[in-house]
Amino acid sequence: MTALIDVENLTLQFKTDEGLVTAVDDVSFSLNRGEVMGLVGESGSGKSVTAKSLMHLNARNAVYGPKSRITLHTDEGPIDVLSLTRPADMKVVRGGAISMIFQEPMASFAPAITIGKQMVEQLQLHAGMSKSRAKEVSVEMLDRVGISDAARRFNQYAFELSGGMRQRAMIAMALSTRPKLLIADEPTTALDVTIQAQVIDLMKDLVDEFHMGIIFITHDLGVVAQTADKVSVMYLGRLIEEGPVRPVIRDAKHPYTQGLLAALPKLDNLDAPLTPVPGDIPSPLDRPSGCVFHTRCPKYLGDECRLQEPRNRMAAPDHRVACHIYSGDGHD
Ligand code: SF4
Repeated sequence: MTALIDVENLTLQFKTDEGLVTAVDDVSFSLNRGEVMGLVGESGSGKSVTAKSLMHLNARNAVYGPKSRITLHTDEGPIDVLSLTRPADMKVVRGGAISMIFQEPMASFAPAITIGKQMVEQLQLHAGMSKSRAKEVSVEMLDRVGISDAARRFNQYAFELSGGMRQRAMIAMALSTRPKLLIADEPTTALDVTIQAQVIDLMKDLVDEFHMGIIFITHDLGVVAQTADKVSVMYLGRLIEEGPVRPVIRDAKHPYTQGLLAALPKLDNLDAPLTPVPGDIPSPLDRPSGCVFHTRCPKYLGDECRLQEPRNRMAAPDHRVACHIYSGDGHD
């Protein structure tokens, strides 16, 4: 498989009045072309901040750790994303090689400009197309994502479309520049279940057709099971478990991942009470020592968990976990 993006030792802090707040702590992962990765965690886990880092898109008060490195592999060669400073270079990455779609499509569309005009402007800016060619491509893409009567929809405003159609239009806009990587931040959360399934199927078809990679950010491991080839689970800025989607979901190793899975509705018993992970994610201003999950962990081992940060261990081929339960068990 062809490498698409390598994230190495990504650490990101924000300067605030209360001091430096760690949002991402030494996170590494890779994605190949044609792969879908689910990036999972509760809000506050650092998943959206991590994803924005891939486009060097975090706020001005963001400080990257000195070992942080993000390498995007393009047809023209590797790009060291975090070293980009000039707007012209950033443009190659943002909206060029990488596109991002969000939970609420209204946030992606300017309300007073037609969808078509916004798509055309983006293609002119990022793909250097003429206006007439950009219009052709936009209508084609709206049609491709299953919007009927695409030529008419092209001239409509976002508020004139249904929720599901807006989501499709946003995907069409994000894909019209043929990005290599699509970052989808909770793209189906606001949709009803039937439309969710359609949007997920559509995204999977597009991965094959455009041979791109997708990072699918969600708090829902059920959605990941339907969409992703592999999964990375984050908690309070740490990547605590990762691996191919089936082994991680069938045989989750980390107590936090196990908790997220236990919180999913069971198809064979929809009346069974949901078991949420007890407690709340701590404030990043007050990060626990040792294992960051120790304040909520049902399998807490004592001082070892409270004082020592667990290292990554191989639980199975390609399946990594950071938890003291797996220390010294011969899998390292
Ligand atoms: Fe729980 Fe300890 Fe494992 Fe952390 S290291 S997840 S506190 S058992």
